[in-house]
Amino acid sequence: MNKGKFIVLSGPSGVGKGTIVANLLASLPIHYSISMTTRSPREGERNGVNYYFVTKDEFEKQIKQGNLLEYATYNNNYYGTPKDKIEEKLNENISVISEIEVKGAKQIKKIYPEAILIFIAPPSVEELKNRLIGRGTETIDKINERLSIAEEELKEATFYDYIIVNDDIKDATDKVINIIKNS
Ligand code: 5GP
Repeated sequence: MNKGKFIVLSGPSGVGKGTIVANLLASLPIHYSISMTTRSPREGERNGVNYYFVTKDEFEKQIKQGNLLEYATYNNNYYGTPKDKIEEKLNENISVISEIEVKGAKQIKKIYPEAILIFIAPPSVEELKNRLIGRGTETIDKINERLSIAEEELKEATFYDYIIVNDDIKDATDKVINIIKNS
């Protein structure tokens, strides 16, 4: 039986993963894995669309019940991938994409060694900082925390099957689409 592909997309905060995912969902029949998080919704984010926004207690209950494929803490919040839809979609020969940070991606690779891991890198850390400031969704303290996490994450990029530098969003999206189509 043919199974769908499991695509994992990582990259530092502000690198443009969200835009790349939105672009490729518009052109490929692929299931987007909605993560669960304890962070508060940003303006415009909706529960069950961008994330499942839950309390810390609820998240810990999900961990205990074994409902998460992987989870990690990032900037003092939990983030995790609900198990339920993933296996179902892969068995229906539908590919799945999940946008997660590096520790989670490593866990996924252990469970699904055939998963395709793609890392989106910024042209430079300076550029990343400008993008985060321009996005305006975090305070400067939070931006600095995210930048120091980014520097750690960039060191882990070699673990990935593919690294794409996002210096042009259309170019980067096309590269991700080609990887998915050809792997
Ligand atoms: P943000 O707060 O910017 O939405 O996400 C922060 C980080 O958490 C990003 O690197 C994002 O990719 C990651 N993330 C989102 N969902 C998950 C998940 O389900 N598991 C893990 N391990 N990381 C996630």
